Amino acid sequence: MKGELLYEGKAKKVFVVEGDEKSLVLSYKNDATAFNGKKKASFIGKGKYNNLITAKIFDYLHSKGIATHFQKSLNETEQLVTKTAIIPVEVVVRNVAAGSITKRLGMKEKTVFSPALVELFYKDDDLGDPLINDEHARILANVDPFELEQMKEAARAINEHLLAFFETVNLQLADFKLEFGKDVEGNLLLADEISPDTCRLWDMETGEKMDKDVFREDIGDLIETYDAILQRLEAVK
Ligand code: ADP
Ligand code: UDP
Repeated sequence: MKGELLYEGKAKKVFVVEGDEKSLVLSYKNDATAFNGKKKASFIGKGKYNNLITAKIFDYLHSKGIATHFQKSLNETEQLVTKTAIIPVEVVVRNVAAGSITKRLGMKEKTVFSPALVELFYKDDDLGDPLINDEHARILANVDPFELEQMKEAARAINEHLLAFFETVNLQLADFKLEFGKDVEGNLLLADEISPDTCRLWDMETGEKMDKDVFREDIGDLIETYDAILQRLEAVK
């Protein structure tokens, strides 16, 4: 079923599916990178956690009517998704300030954004994923204004669903990154992953960071943290 390797990224491998041109297998790796790939490590079990956590979240979003690429989990580290042409624009949604915005614009960590702040980054490792505006997105990624509005609307709706979802397991969703792609019919689908690698999640009672910041800042055990997230999500009926 799983065919040739199409692409190996920093966190996942992408495989073709023999006899099914419309699908891909995403295989989650144990590697972790931060600061544009300058910090690297590998954690046994990380691939499993991000695969299973992403599956849970995409199932939830599907139940809320969000169009996504996710079809099904295949095993502990792999999932079947709908093949898309990825739009090379990372959509970041921020509910409170953390990470790059605190450095770039000098905003104090935990400054609240209400409504949520939506930012666009150009997905290009060589350039270090720079912040871009709508007009840059039109030129660099060939996204028309209507599509961009669709992406931002979807990102805001996804934020509302995820805020509620994580709140049920006592987690505050500070920020997260989304990628969108177009399937062969031209439908806009939420793609890639949503996991503690791509979200900032803070325990609502203690404020403890429960995401990739434990690796970025060397403040905790990544596997224990991701395991705790999965356990909380598995408890949701
Ligand atoms: P990166 O390329 O940033 O290092 P990953 O290691 O996560 O990231 O690699 C996974 C790649 O698969 C990413 O480039 C992502 O955009 C791409 N991808 C995710 N979902 C799909 C999809 N449904 N169709 C095509 N490509 C996808
Ligand atoms: N993010 C991501 N991939 C990226 C850049 C950011 O998943 O290439 C996520 C990151 O984990 C965080 C949110 O997007 O949840 C906002 O990230 P930020 O811009 O603060 O950058 P970072 O702190 O990762 O440098």
